[in-house]
Amino acid sequence: MPEFRAGSAAQLTYLEELVDAGLLTRTGVHGVYARGPAFERVRLAFDGLVTRTADQESPEPLFFPPLLPREQLETNGYLGSFPHLAGTVFAFEGDEQAAAEQFELATRHEDWSAHQRMTEVVRAPAACYPLYPAVAERGPLPKGGLTLDTGDAYVFRREPSSDPSRMQIFHMREIVRVADRDTVIEWRSGWRSRTDELLRSLGLELQQDVASDPFFGRSGRLLAAQQREQELKWELLAPVSGEKPTAIASSNYHQDHFGHTYDIRTDSGELAHTGCMAFGEERVTLALFSAHGLDTRSWPREAREKLELDR
Ligand code: AMP
Ligand code: ZN
Repeated sequence: MPEFRAGSAAQLTYLEELVDAGLLTRTGVHGVYARGPAFERVRLAFDGLVTRTADQESPEPLFFPPLLPREQLETNGYLGSFPHLAGTVFAFEGDEQAAAEQFELATRHEDWSAHQRMTEVVRAPAACYPLYPAVAERGPLPKGGLTLDTGDAYVFRREPSSDPSRMQIFHMREIVRVADRDTVIEWRSGWRSRTDELLRSLGLELQQDVASDPFFGRSGRLLAAQQREQELKWELLAPVSGEKPTAIASSNYHQDHFGHTYDIRTDSGELAHTGCMAFGEERVTLALFSAHGLDTRSWPREAREKLELDR
């Protein structure tokens, strides 16, 4: 079983309130919710604000479905670093008798996985992953590299929890830069202040922190330490519920990992570097409802205006 993380008392209370207000509806599975109209309105309003903020760079939209070719997960290192978070798609393969057995077992809620085979697709764990092989396919980058926009992509991570801000499936919006090293580093630092300003303008109480990913196992600890040391990841945290603030946006610098994996080259033939700016849309929405209350009509004017909630 994956590690189940029980939410704190404050997190459970917040979830109760969200459900009572019709913002989220439970499905019976931890971390999988339906979104009510007011929640979705705010999430999409925030998504629109990201679009307006990124506009000056004219990122190229490249919207993928929430599935990745399995081959990509086998190539990009994810299964080495995060085997515990990956979700794969299996499907039935068998004859009529096998189908009948599967149905029997399933009806009794017993284990029917023996009748399931791995398919050629897996769940996408991050919005930017499918972009890199797609860019590599085009040949060398244009001069100055590329800036891409994933749109509000559904991603899956197997981390069941009763903390409403830790979902198994949620929307990640990413702006992604693929270019030479210096360009990517400079681009990331530009987004650092831009994102800070953007989220503060919504009335969120923010903290910035150098961060690391939840790498698996003992060797993972070393990877996490290296990631911190080199400041490859930073996060913006805001209060959602509970004592500690929650990461609502993060930026990753992959150095030439994807450039190397997919042989992405700059116009001068060097391995490309990549970086991304990721917004966790449900988390931003949860932070906004937590900061300003569950009724958007009583939110501060500046936040409503920024989000264009009155249009
Ligand atoms: P990461 O790739 O882990 O940095 O994730 C990018 C963003 O997605 C984070 O900054 C969070 O806002 C959001 N996020 C990550 N994990 C979850 C989760 N389990 N539930 C909801 N949002 C998440
Ligand atoms: Zn990314």
